[in-house]
Amino acid sequence: MIPSVSGLVSAIQPVIRQIHGTWLAWGGRYGSEEDTLGRSLTLRKTDKWLFQEIMLTEAEVAGYYEGMANSCLWPLCHNFVEKSVFDEDMWQIYRRVNRKFADAVLKTTGPGDMIWIHDFHLALLPRYICRKKPGARVSLFWHIPFPPPEICAILPWAKEFLYGLLGCEFIGFHTEGYVLNFLQSVREICGLEADITNGVVYGPERTVRVGAVPIGIDWREFEEIASRPRVVRKAAEIRSDIGGEYVIIGVDRLDYTKGIPERLLAIEYLLERRPEYKEKLTFVQIAVPSRTDVAAYRSLRRQIEEIVGRINGKHTENFHVPVRYLFKPLNREELVAHYLAADMAVVTPLKDGLNLVAKEYAAVRSDTGGVLVLSPFAGAAVQLSGALTANPYNPQETANQIIAGLEMDETEKKRRMSALARSVREQDANWWWQRIQHNWLSGTETTGESSPDSAIGGGLPQGGTL
Ligand code: UDP
Repeated sequence: MIPSVSGLVSAIQPVIRQIHGTWLAWGGRYGSEEDTLGRSLTLRKTDKWLFQEIMLTEAEVAGYYEGMANSCLWPLCHNFVEKSVFDEDMWQIYRRVNRKFADAVLKTTGPGDMIWIHDFHLALLPRYICRKKPGARVSLFWHIPFPPPEICAILPWAKEFLYGLLGCEFIGFHTEGYVLNFLQSVREICGLEADITNGVVYGPERTVRVGAVPIGIDWREFEEIASRPRVVRKAAEIRSDIGGEYVIIGVDRLDYTKGIPERLLAIEYLLERRPEYKEKLTFVQIAVPSRTDVAAYRSLRRQIEEIVGRINGKHTENFHVPVRYLFKPLNREELVAHYLAADMAVVTPLKDGLNLVAKEYAAVRSDTGGVLVLSPFAGAAVQLSGALTANPYNPQETANQIIAGLEMDETEKKRRMSALARSVREQDANWWWQRIQHNWLSGTETTGESSPDSAIGGGLPQGGTL
């Protein structure tokens, strides 16, 4: 099985690896009804962790994953209401798959096991678990933005969705803003009492604590990869193949939340206003294929390819092509070589839960200079104050910030980069997991009988460090 490329996978893997937990997930394979219900757990033992696969039928993948998760909750939580599809059948399948996960979790866990649930695909799971196992030790991390109450309320099943989450002891979000959105949604939509100052919801079945704990990266791994001679050589090759003076990089899943067309328009504006950059500057956009079965993603791909073609058609000079576009995922070494080769990373999502690429670039370039241009609408902006900020909806502003970064003096670049690296190191994957545990275990419902060996639902046991 090949792990998919996403921030979720990047974030979970180091935790699971270190804690020797059990990871329960749909692994991308289809199974028949019989497979999925009768033998839903295929045990795969690796040297690092246990992976237990939950098989889904094609209809379940269509309704639950492509439908409810990717075509309804994903756009809604990123404030793209007009892209959200609301369909009762999809919702019923989402419920069914969450129940299927609950059955698998209940089969796999023993008394006191810590059940860690990761992300919006499993919003109903905490409550389903607690119904069968009252007082279960369940916590969830919401890896994407949480929408404000007026947008959450648009979801036809908003109440049930929120009650599902309230089966948790602790719910983590990336930012205080998302925490506030959640607390206000619970208050306004469910009519429950929520203590905004202390992050507590007095739910029907339990008291739920809520907090902001932005996910961190394993920066040591990125630094180590960046120091490998073959990666350094690869970075030099990339630069000499591209030529010119400046290499700017964008790295995203091909997703409408990432602001790729808007970023390209900023590059186009820059080349038009500052033609002296035409032969000097190359913008490399790595776009990882994503959710290719969803119509909105297919049309976005066409739109991006059209803009790239237009810019290169207009602004190629003496065979210097200003935009290089790769529609494929890179492995970690290739990705780090691209980070190393780039004078600047432009991370300008229209909305992003956090954005790990921004942190990874800062980790790799910490000692060598480089510039990060970051959207204020990425959750990571709260932490990464050394970045230049650019509103992705304003191509002029983005272009001006790119120029400001290219023309910035070396001392200022280094000052900003070391501030970024400090934050990435201080608030890394280990810090994140420690804070999650602290928040989770500091609750009033601790029974003291947790087993360190069992972890579920993307699950992690108690007590480990990274
Ligand atoms: N990534 C990768 N190969 C690529 C492009 C990206 O492995 O070619 C990884 C990248 O290292 C990062 C993740 O994909 O860890 C993207 O995470 P991010 O939070 O930036 O965005 P998401 O995909 O979760 O929306």
